[in-house]
Amino acid sequence: MSTTPGNRLAWIDEELASLEKAGLRRRLPVRSGPQAVCIVLDGEELVHFGSNDYLNLAADSRLTVAAVEAAEHEGWGSGASPLVTGCCESHRQLQEELARFEGTEAALLCASGFAANAGTIAALVGPGDVVFSDRKNHASLLDGCRLSRADVRVYPHGDEQRLGRLLAKAGGYRRRLIVTDGLFSMDGDLAPLDELADLAERHDAMLLVDEAHATGVFGRRGRGVAEHLGVEDRVDVRIGTLSKALGSVGGFVAGSRALIEWLINRARPYVFSTAPPPATAAAAMAALQIVRDEPRRREGLLQRADRLRDELLGQGWDVGTSASQIIPVIVGEAGRAVELSAALRRRGMFVPAIRTPTVPEGEACLRISLTAGHTDEMIGDLLAELATLSE
Ligand code: PMP
Repeated sequence: MSTTPGNRLAWIDEELASLEKAGLRRRLPVRSGPQAVCIVLDGEELVHFGSNDYLNLAADSRLTVAAVEAAEHEGWGSGASPLVTGCCESHRQLQEELARFEGTEAALLCASGFAANAGTIAALVGPGDVVFSDRKNHASLLDGCRLSRADVRVYPHGDEQRLGRLLAKAGGYRRRLIVTDGLFSMDGDLAPLDELADLAERHDAMLLVDEAHATGVFGRRGRGVAEHLGVEDRVDVRIGTLSKALGSVGGFVAGSRALIEWLINRARPYVFSTAPPPATAAAAMAALQIVRDEPRRREGLLQRADRLRDELLGQGWDVGTSASQIIPVIVGEAGRAVELSAALRRRGMFVPAIRTPTVPEGEACLRISLTAGHTDEMIGDLLAELATLSE
């Protein structure tokens, strides 16, 4: 019996219908105009509490000017992977700048934070090795673990005792690697990096920290949670992204020169993917300068996040273990989170509902993402609306 291509994909309609029934079907909203603190989404004007643009730089004219200048000098596209001819002067300068910013010997620019995580893990461990991953790590870290074909041990979130016991049993492996988010993207809490660094030293394991949500926000110089907790020198591999607080796009790895040389040779998403446009690197360079020149942006942001968290607690909401600009309002049921998000939207605020598979079943939340662009008035309006919805 022959089947037509349309028929062979018929199962997709059924799967989508069951997602719909479970309230888990996702649809793509379209934003018009710039990413900023006020956005137009599917034609509606909204105050935006859902972006990762923590320092409010995505629409900053200094980034745009830098990007336009780079595009004029180096064109738009990169044309090839970095190892062929895709690496240009803007990329080289940004890599040097990132190494200076991070205080490491070297840094490598990747097409995305996802590619940096997946490629780095798979280049560091393989069959015969073992990688330890926090249960709440970002998907890109988990996919890197899977891609590596090393044995994977997932430990409960932030549970260094359990990790210690798993490490104690892993002496027979060739190499051991611990991977963790520095600042967890949904819970907004910090990894216990000092304890993880102790364990890494005790058990001869490499330590990789993904600072995607902390770069530019945490630490005296904005380097991330490792700087904030004073353990920078004890982290072997630091990964960051240019796509969140730095307002551009692309990921990076910072560490020793040998590490970066190894990744240039062995990180497959780096080797086999076209280099990002030079203009995105120039924009990121302008953002790094702003991070250096304007520490008030990150300091003020974290102070206001503390106040917002206190107020939410005062209203009786569960904000979990958040200690950052990412504040989940945990409601449990996916349907309740969707309802609350829709109610806020009707009042002109975008606060995304986060459901499984992004968070575990039963931990659905509204994810409030605060940025340096939110005014006291906007935060006050959000609190006032949430107060009415909590009743
Ligand atoms: N790590 C974490 C913790 C993230 O949340 C994300 C993006 N959501 C990434 C890595 C991937 O970064 P990028 O968007 O630059 O691919």
